[in-house]
Order: sequence, then structure tokens, then C-alpha cells
Amino acid sequence: MTATYDGLLRDAAAALSAAGLDNVRFEARLLLAHATGLSIEQLIARGNEMAPDAVGAALRELTARRIQREPMAYILGEREFWGLPFKVSPAVLVPRPDSETVIEAALALLADRDRPWRILDLGLGSGCLLLTLLRELRAARGVGLEVSEPALAVARTNAAALGIGARAELLLGDWREPGWRDRVGGPFDLLVSNPPYIEAGAIAGLMPEVSRFEPKLALDGGADGLAAYRAIAAEAPRLIVPGGRLLLEAGEGQAPEIYKIFQSTGFTAEASWKDLGGIDRVVSLTY
Ligand code: GLN
Repeated sequence: MTATYDGLLRDAAAALSAAGLDNVRFEARLLLAHATGLSIEQLIARGNEMAPDAVGAALRELTARRIQREPMAYILGEREFWGLPFKVSPAVLVPRPDSETVIEAALALLADRDRPWRILDLGLGSGCLLLTLLRELRAARGVGLEVSEPALAVARTNAAALGIGARAELLLGDWREPGWRDRVGGPFDLLVSNPPYIEAGAIAGLMPEVSRFEPKLALDGGADGLAAYRAIAAEAPRLIVPGGRLLLEAGEGQAPEIYKIFQSTGFTAEASWKDLGGIDRVVSLTY
């Protein structure tokens, strides 16, 4: 079944469209680029050339994965966050634009880019929060805690690729187990986290990309979605310097409850940070 690059692109886009997906031309182009190793520009230039049969077969395989609703980021193995390339695997949550709100808030609060800030990230995943902050704050040092070994491996790969491995101490550990606080050290100037915050019973009803493919460990916040915040709140007073900050990602509508949890362990609430959709996405607390 010989076809041109443009022909393959049209077929892939039609298959994605028939499966009810959006942005099908764009996704088909990215899949074809992935299948060929060529850039989007090279593919446009070669549109009328015949593609090797193996390329057609590879593209159909990638397209079939997408039709099953596997996230593009897992198929491509990479996702951009704050303009930086992050490797991803199904062991980590796909970095989302909403989480860039944490970065925006942190850079506003830690305005002096040359200070040796100490930053803690609980639940590293790909490392997108901590590693982006270490890129932006060139004298800062960070500690990250991650419960999943394959996720930690992804974060370590990203730290090395971004050239900040020497300033990032990335540890395996579980905040649900007693004694975890002693392992991460501190105290820190800033604690960031995008903890699991979906109500356990709501996960099955999320988009199939999320419910079927993303790690439950990174999503499941227990019955009311707030279990991780309670665990963090119990230890956070001893992790933060006086005047230090907590910036925690929150699900829609959760901010008031999260503020209550942290106020009960001695924190003071500051104004929340909104994401691009106008939702209170990041709660800010000081100690
Ligand atoms: N932002 C993710 C979602 O809404 C959830 C991430 C999380 O639980 N931290 O799908």
C-alpha cells in the first residue's frame, strides 16, 4: 500500500476524526514526525514524495494507540512544560499548562533569581515543577520526593537532560508512611506540590486519556480528594523556614477546604493563583 507522506497524513487524520478526536491534522502531523524522525517542516517539503511502506505501518500503529485514547505525550514520549522539554512515560502524570501556575507563583514569590533558595517538591512525577524552578533560579537547590520508582527514574533523566542534576536531590519515598519528613531534610524556603487530588470515585468519569492511562497514584486523592493535603499539612510546619511558602496545586473548588486544612496546622492563607481558565489553581500559604 504505497502512499505519499501527504496521503499518509490524510489517512491518519481521517482515522482520528472518525474516532471522535479533535485537532486531528495537528496530531496526525506529530505522529508522522514521530514515525519518521523528520521535522514538521521536512514533512511539508516532502509531502508529494512516496513514503517507505514501513513508515505507513508505523504511523498506523501510532494512530491506533491514539484512537484507544492513549495521551499524545505518552506516544511521543515527551511534553513541553514552561518551554522546556520533559520526557514522560505512563509512570508519570502528563505535565499540564494548569501546573505552570505553580511556576508563575513561585517565581513571583522568590523574586531574587540569584539567592540560594531551598525548594522541596512532594510527588515529583516527571519533575516538571522542581526542575523548572531549578532552571529558573540558578543558585537554588532542590529536594524531590517520589513514591514510584519508574517515575523517579523519569525525573532523574529529566534532571540530567536539563543540566541541573547536581542541584537536585531526587529521593524515593512515601508521604503516607511515618518518618518521611526526616528523609527530605530541610527546612525549605518553598514547598511545591501537585499532589493527587481527584476524588477516588470520580476518576472513572474523567476523560479516557486520564482515567485509562495516567497513573492512579498521581490522581487518587482518597474519598474526598484531600488525603494528600492532610498528610502534607501534618508535617509541613517542620519543613518550612519561618516566613517560608507553600504553593500547592488544587482541583477546581478545593481551595477553601485546603486552606482550612493548613490553617489548622498553623499556616496563614494568602491569595490563590488562578489558572488561564480563571480557576483558583494554586493555594499559597505562609508559616
Ligand atoms: N490535573 C489533573 C486532572 O485534572 C489531576 C492531577 C492531580 O490529581 N494532581 O486530570
